[in-house]
Amino acid sequence: MDLDRRTADAATLLLRIASHHAPAALASSFGAEDMVLLDVIARHALPISVFTLDTGRLPGETYALIDRTREHYGLTIDVYAPDTRALEAYVRANGVNAFYDSVDLRQRCCAIRKTEPLRRALADKRAWITGMRRAQSVTRRDVALEETDGESGLPKFNPLADWSDGEVWDYIRLHHVPYNPLHDRGYTSIGCAPCTRAIAPGEDVRAGRWWWEQPEHKECGLHRRPPDAVRAAPTLDAVTP
Ligand code: SF4
Repeated sequence: MDLDRRTADAATLLLRIASHHAPAALASSFGAEDMVLLDVIARHALPISVFTLDTGRLPGETYALIDRTREHYGLTIDVYAPDTRALEAYVRANGVNAFYDSVDLRQRCCAIRKTEPLRRALADKRAWITGMRRAQSVTRRDVALEETDGESGLPKFNPLADWSDGEVWDYIRLHHVPYNPLHDRGYTSIGCAPCTRAIAPGEDVRAGRWWWEQPEHKECGLHRRPPDAVRAAPTLDAVTP
């Protein structure tokens, strides 16, 4: 499928989400896929809000991109921060970099810095949108265009589920979309600074996330999926308004 068709399909799905699931929001970590979705939303002036989770440990490049994006598109970006008391208690008990010590401590850090703020971000939404793609990792092989989120129970849409890495970058170059300069330095998937590294050629796209853990653990709890998460594996025809 060519890029124009892929883009039109993504725009059609986003329009359908805006029409049938308002209020809906894009959860953006300002990675390449999120920037494609944000560009499509802005280009079509879709009534879909954009939020991000400021874990407090993001790379400086990501913070700079948040501001650059706000200026470039003239968009409001809702920034959610962790609960201060929960974070202070965790750090007091475990240290500032406890995520390296065990999968459990890493997941608890993600729960405080990401999952709980996500819960607040979605509290008043009827659907959310992510840039997840099947080709990204072993944990994302069965990502569908439309799912039911395991945590919130909300419809969750992944309009780029079947896009390739090349298509994402073709879109970014074609439309001059702002992106995180860390991508040019080998960072294919960008999260918190201490938990993200550049990858070597041939490595899995998400190999640089929590690189000290086994691949099957490499999710942060934001994308927990029940066994029946995939709604109906709809075709794009089925999601056309
Ligand atoms: S990615 Fe690392 S620093 Fe960020 S919330 Fe998870 S464990 Fe904590």
